[in-house]
Amino acid sequence: MSQNFITEPTREIPVIADVDVLVCGGGPAGTAAAIAAARAGANTMLVERYGCLGGLATGGLVIVLPALERNGHQVIGGIGQETFERLLETGEAQYRAESNARSSRFDPEGLKRLSDEMCTEAGVRLRYHSWVVQVFGEEGAPEGVIVESKAGREAIRARQIVDGTGDGDVAALAGAEWERDDKMIGLPFRLMNVDLERWEEAIHDPAIDTQQIRREIHASSGYASHMGISAFPLGPGLVWGNNHHGEGDFLDPDVLTRYEVKGRAAARHVTDMLRERMPGFEDCWLIDTAWQIGVRCTRRIKGLHRMEFEDFKADRRYDDTVALSTDFRNPDIVYEIPLRSMIPAGISNVMCAGRCVSSDDEAMEALREIHGCWTMGEGAGVAAALAAGRGCAPADVPMAELQERLRGAGGILELPPRE
Ligand SMILES: Cc1cc2nc3c(=O)[nH]c(=O)nc-3n(C[C@H](O)[C@H](O)[C@H](O)COP(=O)(O)OP(=O)(O)OC[C@H]3O[C@@H](n4cnc5c(N)ncnc54)[C@H](O)[C@@H]3O)c2cc1C
Repeated sequence: MSQNFITEPTREIPVIADVDVLVCGGGPAGTAAAIAAARAGANTMLVERYGCLGGLATGGLVIVLPALERNGHQVIGGIGQETFERLLETGEAQYRAESNARSSRFDPEGLKRLSDEMCTEAGVRLRYHSWVVQVFGEEGAPEGVIVESKAGREAIRARQIVDGTGDGDVAALAGAEWERDDKMIGLPFRLMNVDLERWEEAIHDPAIDTQQIRREIHASSGYASHMGISAFPLGPGLVWGNNHHGEGDFLDPDVLTRYEVKGRAAARHVTDMLRERMPGFEDCWLIDTAWQIGVRCTRRIKGLHRMEFEDFKADRRYDDTVALSTDFRNPDIVYEIPLRSMIPAGISNVMCAGRCVSSDDEAMEALREIHGCWTMGEGAGVAAALAAGRGCAPADVPMAELQERLRGAGGILELPPRE
């Protein structure tokens, strides 16, 4: 069938704000960027397409946080550490010192509320229910973005823009190039009323092969390589289901729709099978599936520097390091993240943070985790505030001042010694 087109008439669009720093997308990276920019003194606004902050870490029900330290050395400081500590204080996170990965769990409602609080305390102007759909201004130097909402089409002017959309939407609209390896979409879910003690007993009972039951349920579920079911300690009888459905073009709404439908049906099926077959799950109840489909990777924007996994393994150092992170798959790998990897080539006033930064596919597997998105966001936020204040490009911000500011706010920029 040939494509049909219509031509939109030209129209005037109201400018609803004029800010120093505009953060687009309020996932872990965007939220940290907005808080950091506002704390650094910039007039900051954050626009988000949904009604809350946290991105995949709240709406996507991705509620497992990798360790913020490695072999006893703190790696993630600043806003990431503060967020985690504040969730611990309110009982909305639990540190799992006993687990091999030393990862933690947190409550998605807790992170939503705390993210609102931290942005509000810092003076960030929040604008939910607004999709960024276009940029305007000169090629390579956008003057701002256009958002679409129930209020219609509106423009926001900004001296600096941080792209925290996860998919690099803003950088791509501004003309940046990218590479892509879309993969591993999933739709996590939560169950309640599981008799966790009975399940635990069954796991250790030689007469019951719970692994085999799990394998059989997985085989009938339609999930691709991964179906995880684990106890979630922040509530009575709670279990978290993580999964991997398959591949496709995750910027195509038809593909996303298909996986939403498939994901909800699979969660129902797995719940029924667990009730029937797994000891402890007889009276379980499906509370929810994630309301934000779990897209792990789409665009990786081509930046001034491309991070490569080989460099992570080799402890590569940079003059413009603004963040550190770890690799959840490999306890020995801690790496530096240079500012240049967040600056799209050829674009003067946009920075990317989070799962769309410039990297190879393998490096992105490590970079995309929540704790790294926090540190990248904080680095980008402070760089954007300094650039807006000086009227320069982020690439021209004095590095010593930027790094000093990050350290002063509790950031960690030095790799820990290798064991
Ligand atoms: C199933 C699954 C399991 C995972 N497991 C783990 C795990 O165990 N531990 C871990 O640390 N990480 C895990 N991850 C990865 C991690 O959740 C994400 O990589 C991380 O949340 C990315 O953060 P981000 O801020 O870059 O993007 P996102 O979290 O995707 O946030 C992007 C935000 O931008 C908004 N947005 C997007 N486009 C627009 C637009 N055009 N206009 C306005 N707003 C927009 C979105 O609504 C969203 O709020 C998992 C991911 C998935 C999918």
